[in-house]
Amino acid sequence: MAQAVIAIDGPAGTGKSSVSRGLARKLGARFLDTGAMYRMVTLAVLRAGIDPADAQAVGDCASTTRMSVGYSPDVGSFCLAGEDVSAQIRGDDVTRAVSAVSAVPVVRERLVELQRAMAEGPGRIVVEGRDIGTVVFPDAPVKIFLTASAETRARRRNDQNVAAGLADDYDAVLADVRRRDHLDSTRAVSPLRAASDAIVVDTTDMNEAQVVDHLLQLVTQRSGALR
Ligand code: C5P
Repeated sequence: MAQAVIAIDGPAGTGKSSVSRGLARKLGARFLDTGAMYRMVTLAVLRAGIDPADAQAVGDCASTTRMSVGYSPDVGSFCLAGEDVSAQIRGDDVTRAVSAVSAVPVVRERLVELQRAMAEGPGRIVVEGRDIGTVVFPDAPVKIFLTASAETRARRRNDQNVAAGLADDYDAVLADVRRRDHLDSTRAVSPLRAASDAIVVDTTDMNEAQVVDHLLQLVTQRSGALR
């Protein structure tokens, strides 16, 4: 099954989501946004009034939450107990709490199991996250780790916020990027790092189309290894 997986990892703001979607579209592959799954559990935790720092309660919530996730690179479809929460999972409250929730081992166990099950099925699948090449699919034939300077990532994220009608606050976004980098890369379970066999792509001086083209070339070079 891992023979059909293209794993794309990296920190927030590397353009990972857009380029992973763009790559899946060009390949006619399915697409799985694992960050959205951690965000869905976080939303369920917040809605249940659970303190994100209460690992026991957070783990219980993750084990009982019913979620469904779509595979299309074009339409994000994320449902919690039948309700479409695609917009809510991008809210500030969820973004603030998601690192704490995703550091809980039971949450990761449950979601990794779901991600492996979801990747079963026909054709190729682009799977985007933080631990896809290291933990979820260590045997994936193509592993890409995207990086960019913290300042570049914050600028991109702030531009997206402004385009979406949210506050224009580069300094706050940069502080949040650094905070999440630190939490995600120092947590005990599945810290964010490139797999030893991942191809590291620095996107600081590349635009989205250039990154997609570059990834497409990498995938084509390795297509013999892909099912
Ligand atoms: O990709 P996105 O920014 O939506 O991810 C939100 C958060 O989910 C990350 O900051 C990280 O804490 C967590 N995450 C994770 N493992 C993944 C994907 C996301 O821990 N595979």
